[in-house]
Amino acid sequence: MEPRVLEGLLEELTGLEQLSVWRDPADLERFSRDAFDYSPVLLERLRSCRADLVVRPESVAAVMAVAAVCARHQVPLTLRGAGTGNYGQCVPLEGGVVMVMTALNRVRAIEADSGVVEVESGCLLKELDQSLGAHGRQLRLLPSTWRSASVGGFIAGGSGGIGSVRWGFLRDPGHLLGLELVTLEPEPRLLRLDGADAEALNHAYGTNGILTALQLATAPRVPWQEVSIDCDDWGDALQLATLCQRSALELHLCTLLDRSIVDRLPPWSGPAGGRHRLLLLVAPDGVATLERLAARSNAIIVRIGAEAAHRGNGLRELSWNHTTLHCRSAEPGWTYLQMLLPQPEQALIEALRVDWGDDLLWHLEGVRHWGGARLAALPLVRWRGVEALERLMAQCRSLGAVLFNPHVLTVEDGGLGVIDGDQVAAKARFDPKGLLNPGKLRGWTG
Ligand SMILES: Cc1cc2nc3c(=O)[nH]c(=O)nc-3n(C[C@H](O)[C@H](O)[C@H](O)COP(=O)(O)OP(=O)(O)OC[C@H]3O[C@@H](n4cnc5c(N)ncnc54)[C@H](O)[C@@H]3O)c2cc1C
Repeated sequence: MEPRVLEGLLEELTGLEQLSVWRDPADLERFSRDAFDYSPVLLERLRSCRADLVVRPESVAAVMAVAAVCARHQVPLTLRGAGTGNYGQCVPLEGGVVMVMTALNRVRAIEADSGVVEVESGCLLKELDQSLGAHGRQLRLLPSTWRSASVGGFIAGGSGGIGSVRWGFLRDPGHLLGLELVTLEPEPRLLRLDGADAEALNHAYGTNGILTALQLATAPRVPWQEVSIDCDDWGDALQLATLCQRSALELHLCTLLDRSIVDRLPPWSGPAGGRHRLLLLVAPDGVATLERLAARSNAIIVRIGAEAAHRGNGLRELSWNHTTLHCRSAEPGWTYLQMLLPQPEQALIEALRVDWGDDLLWHLEGVRHWGGARLAALPLVRWRGVEALERLMAQCRSLGAVLFNPHVLTVEDGGLGVIDGDQVAAKARFDPKGLLNPGKLRGWTG
């Protein structure tokens, strides 16, 4: 940014109330990063991107004031929750201002009858879930980063996670029931959208509106029980995972890890033992059924106990991308992929095992996809360069997997590859100059 523009911007921003401003190089660096280093491709692409200023508003009024200043100076504004995203979603590709939303964190209301919650976007999911607990409710979906991530970042950048086995994905109709947003204009507007209009801002990487509050559906609280099941044979383990999903069990998590991944998990995760492992969160009345199903498969079941009985890490922190995190901590040379597997799954897995051997370690997650029980995969991939990665992805697609590429920057390329006209139209309405998180919405050509 030109020094003259930066000075003008700084002067206006430092004069605002309920706003912290940072310009120290270490802070600029810190707030310009997320967990994109899981991808060697993104690491290369993003390592030099840096904000010119970082601000943190404490009220909706302060958010509006920042939006007005950025719009008047025509400066890019990139929103940041807790910065735990994996695809550089909150990295300011063109510099400018990064706005950290975590001080806007109030739970505004929880409806007694329906459990619908209205919460400010910077609220951490852990705190939100705690507040819901006091009302006998819980979040339907959580990322495995639920202790540190914000609800706004989850809606704008996440997709699903713990709870997806029962509730599908964030963009399924019925999770996001409405929202409040601030537009990026010289005279910003504070708007409320209903569930239908809100969809265009769901998983749009903060490119088409500043979310200040969300209305979300919640679920009755269940005292989840942690259970692990070990199998000698991969085929048995896969069959058991499918059986668990199709039985009359209330599940919150159904993770299947290849034995080579189990061996790479931290010591607190349980004994290594050289077996494939299923990790389950199940309602108390389902534990006996799991024991019955495990006995049929000659599997070893461990009733770990109530999730609420311990405060630290639990099975949640061994699932979804936390599995990737642990393997990368053990050996940094791993990256990963994300895909929905075709049914039956085993043919694809076998074909890839033959061609990729120990360079591809299988991690599956039970999910609900348009009402049906499916398996998603987040396999660990040993990094052998871009060409090998492209070849692997092409092979996965040719075998029928739907790939969600975690090595790309735009909303569209990380999803189904197609431009969502509603997302682009929302950007035209709420960010007409294209200043919000530039470079992340491929469909925006304005
Ligand atoms: C180990 C690990 C495990 C993970 N597991 C999962 C998982 O299970 N499921 C999953 O979906 N994701 C997962 N993620 C990705 C990420 O942690 C989650 O999506 C998380 O919810 C993001 O929240 P955040 O507050 O960190 O958002 P950030 O990373 O700060 O932001 C994410 C996106 O949201 C935008 N944004 C943030 N706040 C706002 C706002 N107020 N208005 C508009 N846009 C905004 C940002 O610009 C950015 O594009 C994982 C990541 C890691 C590193």
